[in-house]
Amino acid sequence: MMKLVFATHNQNKVKEISALLPDHFHVLSLDEIDFRDEIPETARTLEGNASIKAQTIYDQIGVNCFADDSGLEIDALHMEPGVHSARYAGEQRNDDANMDLVLERLHGKSNRTAQFRTVIILIIDGTAHSFEGIIRGTITEEKRGKEGFGYDPIFKPDGFNKTFAQMGMTEKNAISHRSRAFEKMINFLKAISSH
Ligand code: IMP
Repeated sequence: MMKLVFATHNQNKVKEISALLPDHFHVLSLDEIDFRDEIPETARTLEGNASIKAQTIYDQIGVNCFADDSGLEIDALHMEPGVHSARYAGEQRNDDANMDLVLERLHGKSNRTAQFRTVIILIIDGTAHSFEGIIRGTITEEKRGKEGFGYDPIFKPDGFNKTFAQMGMTEKNAISHRSRAFEKMINFLKAISSH
């Protein structure tokens, strides 16, 4: 049995990853290990924030662990909002306000290419391993669809004629940045646990 702490309070993310891992991995959230402190996400990159979260848990609890950080990166906006995705339009973390700001800043711009990117930092016995997942697409002219969260209504993945918010969860998860990064970590964990 290998215990892994996922440095998140989001129980849905824990459920999702647990379902994909072989039975001998036991994934625990921060709430399940009674870790209540806020971990400050002060880095300027997704890699940096994922590292802070994983390293904080490893240093304080001494348990194998991983953390993820994701963001929307828009080419014409110099890869912003990026690490600021959740709070792009302010501390209120409002999805609609964030999307409105993106649409305003892209107004009249012909280059609307973008990507969602996830970085995972996994720390096993003190050594950090990093995994990345990317889905390329374009920012639409207006919001479309009601599913999902965050910037889903304005992100149209390449090869599809609908936004993430017009897809069901299964369809989105088959191609998403998060799924791709988690798949890489899962393959790594399976490989190291099979010998
Ligand atoms: P987190 O690191 O997973 O918490 O993601 C940070 C922020 O990036 C979220 O609050 C969203 O604004 C945005 N984001 C990350 N993943 C997605 C996604 O799959 N769809 C839409 N927005 C996302």
